[in-house]
Amino acid sequence: MPTREQGGAPRVEIKRIPVGPLSTNCYIVRLEGQERAVVIDPGAAPAKLLKLVSDAGLKIEAIINTHGHPDHIGGNAALREATGAPVYVGEADAHMLEEPDDMFGLLERAGAAGMDLRADIMMKGGDRLKAAGMEFEVLATPGHTPGGVSLYLKDHGVVFTGDTLFNRGVGRTDFAGGDECALMDSIHSVLFLLDGATQVLPGHGLDTSIAAEKEWHSRIGLR
Ligand SMILES: [Zn+2]
Repeated sequence: MPTREQGGAPRVEIKRIPVGPLSTNCYIVRLEGQERAVVIDPGAAPAKLLKLVSDAGLKIEAIINTHGHPDHIGGNAALREATGAPVYVGEADAHMLEEPDDMFGLLERAGAAGMDLRADIMMKGGDRLKAAGMEFEVLATPGHTPGGVSLYLKDHGVVFTGDTLFNRGVGRTDFAGGDECALMDSIHSVLFLLDGATQVLPGHGLDTSIAAEKEWHSRIGLR
C-alpha cells in the first residue's frame, strides 16, 4: 500500500488484510523499519493475522476497533492473548463488545463466539492514542454506530475511517444505533475538514482521499 512522506517524518507502512466473509479491512500499521506496530480492526482470521505478525517479527502494541460491529472485533480475544496488547474502542460502543450482537453469525464464523472481546481502554473524540511511535488523533465519527471513531495519523496524512466513509460510499445506518444525520455530520463536519490530500483507509474496499470523496459527494448531491 502506498505511503506518504511528510516533512521528514519517518514513513508509515500500512498493510491491508481483508478478513472474514465481509472482507473487512484489517490494517497492520507501523513506522518503516520498526518492529512495533498496531492492528486496526482484526475482524476475523486471527491465526492468519498472528502468522503475518510473527513472520514479520512485529511487536503489537495496540489493537484498535473503529467500532463495535462483529466483523471488526472477532479477532480481539485471540490477538490480545497472543500479543498482550490492549484493545481500544470508542466508549459508546464498549457495550457492543461486552454483549456482542452476533449479526449474521459473523463471530461464530470467526471462531470468536463466547470469547472475551471486551476492550481494555475506551476512546473518545479528541483523545491522542500513542502507540508504536505513532500518534493517532481520535475523531468521534458516530452515525454508523454511536461510538464509531476514525483514527487520524496527522503526521502521515492518513485517516482510518472504519465504516463511516468508503471509496464512493458511506456507512449503513439501518443497524441498531445507526443515525443517518449523525453519519452525514461526521463525514461533512469532521472528516471533510481534513486536508484534501489525506489518504482515506476504510473498513471495507479500497482506499481513497478526502478530496476525491468531497468531489463525489458534491457531484451526486449528498449534502
Ligand atoms: Zn460496521
